[in-house]
Amino acid sequence: MLDSITIKNAEIIAVGTELLMGQVLNTNAHFLSQRLNEIGVFCFHQAVVGDNVTRLTEQIIMSLSRADLVILTGGLGPTDDDLTMQTVADTIGIQLHFDEESYEKMASFFRATCRMMPENNRKQAFLPSTKDGIILPNDNGTAPGALMWTNYEGANKIIVCLPGPPNELNPMFDKYALPILVKRTSSKLVSKYVHIINVGESKAEIMMKDIIDSQTNPTIATYATTGECKFRITQSFSSEDSENEDKISPIVEIMKERFGDNIYEIADDNNGRSLAKVVVDMLNSKGLTLGFAESLTGGMASSCIVSIPGASSVFYGGIVSYDNSVKENVLGVSREILDTVGPVSSECAMQMAVGAKNTLKTSIAISFTGIAGPAGGTPEKPVGTVFVGIADEKGVDSYELHLRGNRTKIREIAVLKTLDLLRRKLQ
Ligand code: AMP
Ligand code: MG
Repeated sequence: MLDSITIKNAEIIAVGTELLMGQVLNTNAHFLSQRLNEIGVFCFHQAVVGDNVTRLTEQIIMSLSRADLVILTGGLGPTDDDLTMQTVADTIGIQLHFDEESYEKMASFFRATCRMMPENNRKQAFLPSTKDGIILPNDNGTAPGALMWTNYEGANKIIVCLPGPPNELNPMFDKYALPILVKRTSSKLVSKYVHIINVGESKAEIMMKDIIDSQTNPTIATYATTGECKFRITQSFSSEDSENEDKISPIVEIMKERFGDNIYEIADDNNGRSLAKVVVDMLNSKGLTLGFAESLTGGMASSCIVSIPGASSVFYGGIVSYDNSVKENVLGVSREILDTVGPVSSECAMQMAVGAKNTLKTSIAISFTGIAGPAGGTPEKPVGTVFVGIADEKGVDSYELHLRGNRTKIREIAVLKTLDLLRRKLQ
């Protein structure tokens, strides 16, 4: 039966009262929708249902009536409120069987962590038999998942049950379910992601409007996050289509012409490198080291770099020089500068950067000083005025930024814009 199924559209049912109560964010639906989108399966409906047999049954029937593939998440645990597997089995009229192998795997999972397996975990080993489904092993927890098939009102359908915890669901789906599903889709989607900085989302869209409007395949979509913007270009290949012409690359070339070096990353999936990662990679390849002197950002720039795995090979450290005394005593900013032009000035930023470079013994040091608000702005230096100093082997430069937004946004954008300044310097 499984081989006769073509998956065109899917529905996701997230099961759990905690989701309805707002205690847990439904990130499983987010993850699964992305995956379905990547394999060209449409998802017209998503549902969240509490731990309730009647309402879950109703939802499964509704979803089966509309979709070729129904994916359920959550409710596979050992406790009484975990009822997804049994409810699916009852709804599609199959029997669950005790699966010795899955039970043994579960027991060894407990042994590996030196714990006794509670008796109620046995429940998780009741799974569909081979004539009704395939067991999806759980490499990161106890509850196995399952992929089942059924005939609903004359049409063959697939139902997938996955555990609730994202760290179990994500790898299980990718490793065991996706390969089975991908073979049964009718079209394939290929995407490229172009990451842009320094151009806002609406401006970026206007700059590409002629291209966006002139075609339907590939489709071009924009996404914005703080200070950054991203284009997704997606080409759909239908299995009946004999032509396999690449329609994405010409559009990427147009974007390169129009956005130039504002493009900092072009990726094949939605997990392209962040600006911080691009900078860390550039420093690495040039054998350079980095440090910060952070007043305005108070450690945010350091944290941003440290969040990149492998940052230790390029990042030495940062000095949070919030008070003037630290600027003076630790970084060596002159009293005269602090008393005359003040701490929010290009002079101070440059001395901070030089001081950090000497103290931290890095090849490059970057300083941040500015007014994040809401108080502290003046007509000459309104809230959002930021000075950045970049000291390297050649000398020191300062940059003046004028940013808008609340306190957090000003600090975040200061870090982002500065990483971009460094990226351009390193190019
Ligand atoms: P369950 O499989 O229902 O026992 O869920 C176990 C845990 O997984 C829950 O307590 C949540 O923390 C998490 N979880 C369940 N469903 C979701 C979901 N849709 N998105 C994110 N986390 C979830
Ligand atoms: Mg639950």
